Amino acid sequence: MNSLMLNTDGVQIPQLGFGVWQVPADEAEQAVATALKAGYRHVDTAAAYDNEEGVGRAVRASGLPRQKVFVTTKLWNADHTRAAEAFDECLARLGLDYVDLFLIHWPVPGQGRYVQAWKEMEKIYRDGRAKAIGTSNFTVSTLTRLMDEADITPSINQIELHPYLQQRELRAFHEANGILTEAWSPLGQGKGLLGDPALAVLSAKYGKTPAQIVLRWHLQLGNVVIPKSVTPSRIAENIEVFDFILDAEDMAAIGAMNKGRRIGPDPDTFN
Ligand code: NAD
Repeated sequence: MNSLMLNTDGVQIPQLGFGVWQVPADEAEQAVATALKAGYRHVDTAAAYDNEEGVGRAVRASGLPRQKVFVTTKLWNADHTRAAEAFDECLARLGLDYVDLFLIHWPVPGQGRYVQAWKEMEKIYRDGRAKAIGTSNFTVSTLTRLMDEADITPSINQIELHPYLQQRELRAFHEANGILTEAWSPLGQGKGLLGDPALAVLSAKYGKTPAQIVLRWHLQLGNVVIPKSVTPSRIAENIEVFDFILDAEDMAAIGAMNKGRRIGPDPDTFN
């Protein structure tokens, strides 16, 4: 499993992880156990997903040393003024004594409390209870304000990113500031994207599924990806992406699929 260095001393993140948004609480333990058996070493949950207990149980029951599994959780929007308490609640639900990455889930610029939340997250990082801290759904504007007012630059920004929404400007901004890009809904939630005829051509050429082609494109761009599935065969399929390379022409063909179209909410207005 390939890992990338975060801008935080010595912390590495496995480039491919397992996302658990919309995995029901009573299925999360089984799904994460299946993923860990298939070779995943990185799980992405959030307070808002209501499944941290199951994620934590699977990690603890896996038999893997804690330091071999990278666990991310996220601070919910209603908790920007109580980040320290909300983080303690995350750890309690996970049954862990630290997380590898703690993200602020959305900036909620209308509420204007994300700098306050970030300052609490900096303390959590300094205490060693989150090995790294980062953002999710931040834009150039909200990241700029955060970096102006904070001590610690986010290690990563987790954003909606797939071939139909390629986020070139934001990715360039991340790169210029030493922030990794993490793609949520990397498969475009499966829907129309995986049936796109351009992917069918590449699928036939490489002998890989459309989902594998899309995940490989992300990896070659340098994105961290966290595809989600509860189906064991797809969980296995989505990690079988380290045995082929898309050539430059095919990377460009996927680059040409951009429609600038979101599936999820707009971070400027979502609260
Ligand atoms: P995704 O792009 O990972 O798509 C998941 C869906 O695609 C599955 O439900 C399934 O229907 C389909 N699928 C998965 N593997 C497939 C395969 N091999 N072949 C065909 N279809 C397949 O979408 P997602 O769950 O929205 O995003 C992944 C993760 O990103 C989430 O689980 C969560 O951890 C994270 N996320 C974060 C935010 C945020 O605001 N930070 C928002 C959304 C998602």
